[in-house]
Amino acid sequence: MEPFKLVRAQNNASAIAASNSKETKFIAGGTNIIDLMKLYVEKPKQLVDVTSLNLKQIETQPDGSVKIGALVKNSDLAYHPVIKQKYPFLSEALLSGASAQLRNMASVGGNLLQRTRCYYFYDTAFPCNKREPGSGCPAISGYNRIHAVLGTSDKCIATSPSDMCVPMAALGAMIQVEGPAGSRKIPFADFHRLPGDTPQIDTNLKQGELITAVILPSLPFAAKSHYLKVRDRASYEFALTSAAVALDISNGKINNSRIALGGVGTKPWRSFAAEKVLNGAAANTQTYRAAAEAAMAGAKPHKYNAFKVELAKRTIVRALETVGGMV
Ligand SMILES: Cc1cc2nc3c(=O)[nH]c(=O)nc-3n(C[C@H](O)[C@H](O)[C@H](O)COP(=O)(O)OP(=O)(O)OC[C@H]3O[C@@H](n4cnc5c(N)ncnc54)[C@H](O)[C@@H]3O)c2cc1C
Ligand code: SF4
Repeated sequence: MEPFKLVRAQNNASAIAASNSKETKFIAGGTNIIDLMKLYVEKPKQLVDVTSLNLKQIETQPDGSVKIGALVKNSDLAYHPVIKQKYPFLSEALLSGASAQLRNMASVGGNLLQRTRCYYFYDTAFPCNKREPGSGCPAISGYNRIHAVLGTSDKCIATSPSDMCVPMAALGAMIQVEGPAGSRKIPFADFHRLPGDTPQIDTNLKQGELITAVILPSLPFAAKSHYLKVRDRASYEFALTSAAVALDISNGKINNSRIALGGVGTKPWRSFAAEKVLNGAAANTQTYRAAAEAAMAGAKPHKYNAFKVELAKRTIVRALETVGGMV
């Protein structure tokens, strides 16, 4: 790890003011940024500790939406009664991630910004376009079993690692940020970026912008939702595939749906194509399979990750059957 200066911010304004150069990063739980610094993947000259900021509340707003402070711990969010009742798939996703100790440290803001687990990205002995733009992507012709099949480019095929982000994408959450130019809200779909020609830029957050909250919209049918994660071992492992689904069903018909995928996309992957198939259709396994086919229609597998295409389809079907029942 390279030497760095640590600044403890006492309020949002001082945190933002201190983060005025590319060499500065915020630190919350530290469970990702410190690992990356130890491996020389990230080399900030200054860290701004934001853990004293007043961003730890979970509040139901007058319009029924729920505002989650950026410093709420992953475990506190997962076990919060409002989250368990209104958005069970978010609670399930959080509890499927990492380990109890990590969830007790990890914050909502840090989880949104955790970086890919691509092994070449973490190993500075290899080139990597995300780490060193223009150096190449060894994953494309190398061992790419954990890599993405949706949203890839010829510069990067790294998978978005977060479980929490998958139900948040399905919900169409808003991310509230404060920065040198004031505050703004970013729709979840516009927050993470596809790799394209600039895989080194993960999100549309600007230098100095602090995430202050995530706002989950009121979506009553999300009370019937499920997060299914498929991985190589039962705990302490990232997703090979995952699906966050919510269904509004009456008289055997799907009135509305939400579906997002993890483990397969270069960003948390809401599937509007699958929702289109589901909405208005009969709630049965045939419909769920058609939705799964639509979700994965654009998949571009590489040598070692082709299995993810069928696995993702089965993950989607099983998650939908869990919520909608098997007919
Ligand atoms: C062994 C291991 C296993 C894991 N398994 C999983 C898993 O299965 N599923 C999963 O989803 N995750 C998993 N994780 C990742 C874990 O969820 C993340 O490390 C964690 O969520 C990051 O949160 P943090 O608060 O510790 O972030 P930090 O490490 O403190 O920060 C991460 C990034 O966010 C930025 N940041 C933090 N807060 C803010 C803010 N308020 N505004 C702007 N920028 C901010 C930092 O500058 C940094 O760039 C695992 C991690 C480890 C180490
Ligand atoms: S997939 Fe992306 S992160 Fe992984 S080596 Fe290629 S450019 Fe780097």
